[in-house]
Amino acid sequence: MGKPTGFMEYPRELPASRQPLLRVLDWNEFHDHMPSDGLRKQGARCMDCGVPFCHSACPVNNLIPEWNDLIYKNQWHEAYIRLIKTNNFPEFTGRVCPAPCEGSCVLGINEPPVTIKSIEAAIIDHAWQQGWVLPNPPQQRTGKKVAVVGSGPAGLAAADQLNKAGHLVTVFERSDRIGGLLMYGIPNMKLDKQAVVNRRVKLMEQEGVKFVTNTHIGRDIDASELLNQFDAIVLAVGATKPRDLSAPGRQLKGIHFAMEFLHGNTRSLLDSQHKDGHFISANDKNVIVIGGGDTGTDCIGTSLRHGCKSLVNFELLDQPPVARAADNPWPQWPKIFRVDYGHEEASARFGQDPRAYAITTKEFLGDDQGHLRAVKTVRVQWVKNNGKMVMQEVPGSEREWPADLIFLAMGFLGPEETLGKAMQLETDARSNFKADYGRFATSLEGVFAAGDCRRGQSLVVWAINEGRGAARECDRFLMGHTNLP
Ligand SMILES: Cc1cc2nc3c(=O)[nH]c(=O)nc-3n(C[C@H](O)[C@H](O)[C@H](O)COP(=O)(O)OP(=O)(O)OC[C@H]3O[C@@H](n4cnc5c(N)ncnc54)[C@H](O)[C@@H]3O)c2cc1C
Ligand code: SF4
Repeated sequence: MGKPTGFMEYPRELPASRQPLLRVLDWNEFHDHMPSDGLRKQGARCMDCGVPFCHSACPVNNLIPEWNDLIYKNQWHEAYIRLIKTNNFPEFTGRVCPAPCEGSCVLGINEPPVTIKSIEAAIIDHAWQQGWVLPNPPQQRTGKKVAVVGSGPAGLAAADQLNKAGHLVTVFERSDRIGGLLMYGIPNMKLDKQAVVNRRVKLMEQEGVKFVTNTHIGRDIDASELLNQFDAIVLAVGATKPRDLSAPGRQLKGIHFAMEFLHGNTRSLLDSQHKDGHFISANDKNVIVIGGGDTGTDCIGTSLRHGCKSLVNFELLDQPPVARAADNPWPQWPKIFRVDYGHEEASARFGQDPRAYAITTKEFLGDDQGHLRAVKTVRVQWVKNNGKMVMQEVPGSEREWPADLIFLAMGFLGPEETLGKAMQLETDARSNFKADYGRFATSLEGVFAAGDCRRGQSLVVWAINEGRGAARECDRFLMGHTNLP
C-alpha cells in the first residue's frame, strides 16, 4: 500500500472528457488522459483493504490493488506487467468496460470508489506509447491447428492465448474487418478503430495469428470442411439475433435494428469518412431510440453526430434510484441512475436528458408513402404481484411522438442458427450454444464456445474471460495438459 492516508487526502477525480457540444462535431474518442501526477493520487486512494473485492468483481480478475500501488510509486512498467497477466486487451476494457470492479471497491462503501478503469486505460496507453507492447511470438510451435470462428473480443482473446501456447491459429470473420462488436458495434468515439483496435490486431498478426476476413463459416466454408482441416475449433460468433418489436406498423420505412445503423455508420466512416453515403443518416430527423443500455446510448451518440433534429430514448423500466436501494447492497453491482456519454451529449444539445422512462410502444404510424411519421405509446407502472414485478398500462396515458427514424435497441436473442445447425450443436434454453462455463466444450468433441454465443449478450470483459477460458480448455484437449491460466 503506497500511501496509507491517500483515501482521506484525495477526492475521486476522473480524467476530463472533451466538451459534449464540441465532441459531437467529430468521431474522435471523447476520453482525455489525466496527467500522471493526478493518476498517482488516484492510485494512492486504494486502501489495499486486504480482501480485494474489486479483484473478484472484475471478470478477468485484474490484480487491481497491485497496480494501484505501483502507479502511486511511479513504477509504470511493473504495473503494465501485472496488468497483462490477466487481461489480453486492457486498452479495450479501459475504454468500454462498465467497471463492475468499482461497484465492489471497499472504499465505495462510504466514499466514491477508486477510479480503477481509468488507471487501467492509462497503464496500457502509457505502455503502448513507451514501446513496451511488442510482438512476442511463441518460441516453439506444437503443429496443432486451431480455427477460431468470429473475431470479437472472445475470439481475439482465445486466438491470443492459443497462439501463446504455440498452436497455429486462424481466425475466420465474415465481416470485412476484424474486431466483432469492438469494430462494428461500439462506435469510434468510444473506441478508436484504427488507433486502438487495428493496432492490437496488427500485433497479433506479427505474433503469428492468421486472420481471414469476408469468410462466413457455414456458407463460404462448410462446417464439415473446417472440422476436417483443424484439430480444434473455438466458436466465438456472438449473439447477433436482435430482439424485434412486433407492434402494428413495424413494416414502415424508417424503423431499423440498432446494429444496421451502427454497423453501417462505422463502416462508411472507415471506408470513406462518410463520403460514400452508405449509411442510415439521422441528419435533421426526429429520432427515437427504443431500449437503453450501451446499444441505445451508442445510437444516441451517433444520431447526435449526424445532426438529428430531436432525440428521445424510450425505456420500459422506471428510472433507477440515484443511490443504491436497500435490496441492492454493496458489493453488488449498483443499479443506479447513470449518465453515459450519449445522455450527456443529448442534454447539452437539447437541454434535457433524452430518456423517457416507463413507456411502452403501442403502434408505429406512417404517411401514405409508407414512411414512419410518429409512434404511439402508453405509460406503464410496475407493480408487485405474487412477489414478481409486473407491468400495467396506465389508462389515459397514450401519447404520440413525432418520429422519422426509430432504432430498436432491445437486446439480442443468442447466436444465429445456421452454424449451430450445420454442426448439430446442442443449445440451451436461451438458444445459446450449450457448453458449461469453465469447460466451454460444446456437444461436439473438439469444438468449444466462448463469449456472447455461449453466455448470451454480455460485456467485452466477459468475452475476454471466456475466450481465455475456452483457449485453456482447448489447449488441454489438444495436448492432454495446459499451462494457460
Ligand atoms: C452496440 C453495442 C455496444 C456495446 N457496448 C459495450 C460497451 O461499451 N462495453 C462492453 O463491455 N460491452 C459492450 N457491448 C457488448 C459487447 O460488445 C459484447 O458482449 C462482446 O463484443 C461479445 O464478444 P464476442 O466475441 O462474444 O462476440 P462479437 O463481438 O459479437 O463478435 C462475434 C463475431 O463473429 C462473427 N461471426 C458470426 N458468425 C460468423 C460465422 N458464421 N463465420 C464467421 N464469422 C462469424 C461476427 O461477424 C462478429 O464479428 C456492446 C454491444 C453492442 C451491440
Ligand atoms: S476490466 Fe473492467 S472490471 Fe476489470 S479492472 Fe478493468 S474496468 Fe474493472
